[in-house]
Amino acid sequence: MNDRNLQRLERAREVLATEQVDALLIASDTNVSYLTGFTGDSSALLMTRDRFLMISDGRYTTQLEQECPGLDCHIRPTGQMLNDGVVEVVGRLGIKNLGLEADAITLATNEELTEKLPTVATKAVHGAVEALRLVKDEQEVAAIRQAILYAERAFTMLRAGLRPDQTEKQVTDDLEAFLRRCGASAASFPPIVAVGGNAALPHYHAGETTRVADDDFMLVDWGASSAPLPYKSDLTRVVVTGKVTPKFENVYRTVLAAQERGIAAIRPGVLGRDIDAAARSVIEEAGFGPRFSHGLGHGIGLDIHENPRMRKECQTVLQPGMVVTVEPGIYLPGWGGVRIEDDVLVTPDGCEVLTHVPKSLESVRL
Ligand code: ZN
Ligand code: ZN
Repeated sequence: MNDRNLQRLERAREVLATEQVDALLIASDTNVSYLTGFTGDSSALLMTRDRFLMISDGRYTTQLEQECPGLDCHIRPTGQMLNDGVVEVVGRLGIKNLGLEADAITLATNEELTEKLPTVATKAVHGAVEALRLVKDEQEVAAIRQAILYAERAFTMLRAGLRPDQTEKQVTDDLEAFLRRCGASAASFPPIVAVGGNAALPHYHAGETTRVADDDFMLVDWGASSAPLPYKSDLTRVVVTGKVTPKFENVYRTVLAAQERGIAAIRPGVLGRDIDAAARSVIEEAGFGPRFSHGLGHGIGLDIHENPRMRKECQTVLQPGMVVTVEPGIYLPGWGGVRIEDDVLVTPDGCEVLTHVPKSLESVRL
């Protein structure tokens, strides 16, 4: 195990004392990866006061030796299901109070463990590893920068090759191929490509019938995953493929001003809800308040949506090392929508915008 993962494991183990349990079962693949560096799946990590133990299977024996040298492993014999592996290990170690990662363990698994471990008390533990993941270290920020670079290069290729007769689906397929060609392990989520009126749906799925030339603008929301661990990027730009109407200009400039106001408010010590309010006030003053129908942004990291969720209720205090998106939007049913999204690192004295795709109205015209 490298020092970075050992430190994370030690910090995560502090939850045993605060939750008053003998052991915690980490079942989220993402959290297991974050703590140990293991990039496989179908495995769980059991942490007790004096040991860390990976419960995995024979497919991963070699990979575990390479990625987590020195980590104790229980390799399940063929035919032993993961839950039975957990039951065996928990029984062998004499654990009496077992914490379960509540957001990753299903009701079915909980029932099975309770039934097969009748003398063990289980307790739901919420967000223990997610709390550590809030603040990124230098290597994580570097991986996010890499994911941004892949996404930006792919977008440049997409713009250069965009044709009026392409369907949204074809544009999406091209974008995913470009992302991989530029170095990404994959898209960080299925890209959103929405022409004109379709952009009024914030999470639209690209269609086979609408073509680039069917309207004057197109919204693209995309990102890349880096490797070996899949740190994510998440960007949105609108591409103007036709004429700029006064209505479009008004909506676009309002969203851009809101986004810039939000970014300007980001610094350590500020609540997430205050960043949301700073951006939202610009949209409200322009009369579009009810048309901004989602939160301002979210953390990114190993998952595409992480804490803090920057919305009206967000009580999270921003700290250096957090990486958040800032993505205000205005959506007008039937007409379309504009969203502009960048990825922002909270720094000790303010913030750094990590994404660099131009976004002035002049620069987004094809
Ligand atoms: Zn996005
Ligand atoms: Zn986003």
